[in-house]
Amino acid sequence: MATFKDFRNKVKPNWCPGCGDFSVQAAIQRASANVGLEPEDLAVVSGIGCSGRISGYINAYGFHGIHGRALPIAQGVKMANRELTVIASGGDGDGFAIGMGHTVHAIRRNIDVTYIVMDNQIYGLTKGQTSPRSEVGFKTKSTPGGSIESALGVMELALTAGGTFVAQSFSSDLKGLTALIEQGIQHKGFSLINVYSPCVTFNKINTYDWFKENITELSSIEGYDPSNRMMAMQTLMEHNGLVTGLIYQNTEKKSYEDMVPGFKPEGLVNQSLEISEDHFSKL
Ligand code: SF4
Ligand code: MG
Repeated sequence: MATFKDFRNKVKPNWCPGCGDFSVQAAIQRASANVGLEPEDLAVVSGIGCSGRISGYINAYGFHGIHGRALPIAQGVKMANRELTVIASGGDGDGFAIGMGHTVHAIRRNIDVTYIVMDNQIYGLTKGQTSPRSEVGFKTKSTPGGSIESALGVMELALTAGGTFVAQSFSSDLKGLTALIEQGIQHKGFSLINVYSPCVTFNKINTYDWFKENITELSSIEGYDPSNRMMAMQTLMEHNGLVTGLIYQNTEKKSYEDMVPGFKPEGLVNQSLEISEDHFSKL
């Protein structure tokens, strides 16, 4: 049985020392081993950005795609080989700006892919510009007078788009992040895990200390129920989205690939079409 070390390769990450993305890499490796995967069971598909390099730093099948297009590739991989566990990954610029069209439709499609976003509220690879996740007033090279646009509430958006697994974590919390990725992999459907992953080089506002002061862990909220979508939305709005843990999960809705005919790797056998009348009543 594989351990997290089997998901390591010899490529040395060229992230800046202290970058939050190191923890995300470690959490993916640990979670993959903890759910019983072997490296050949896993495909990691990434977009462009500092975080997009992650597909090259994990010993598994890897595909470093183009900007904002990790999800179309990841969904294609899953449809072509449904036996694979597919993780898509990238940054907030990649997934919530140029790639947002794909993100929303992958969420509502509910295909069985785990999407891990390393959210640092900035474009790191291009040396520090405002991203869709930057708060109003955030000063960067692209907004020297401070951003005048509102930050996108991605967790709220995922809930309204019909997300069946909506979660958020912080790269300092390796244990909690690993557990959420395990849950995301095991969830049958699309899992969105947004990870606050500080950019220590270009974002001097949203630092590790800033997150520690501003994040509320859902486990500290008495009676929080992740199966209650209304409670999830209300809690997000009350905390300006700054919560960590499993925000919402719906295990009732079928995943996309369970409803369309396809092929199995061994012998290219047609799968049967499994859409029941019951399914449509749940949409
Ligand atoms: Fe990480 Fe920022 Fe450095 Fe990119 S620029 S590797 S996001 S710390
Ligand atoms: Mg970013």
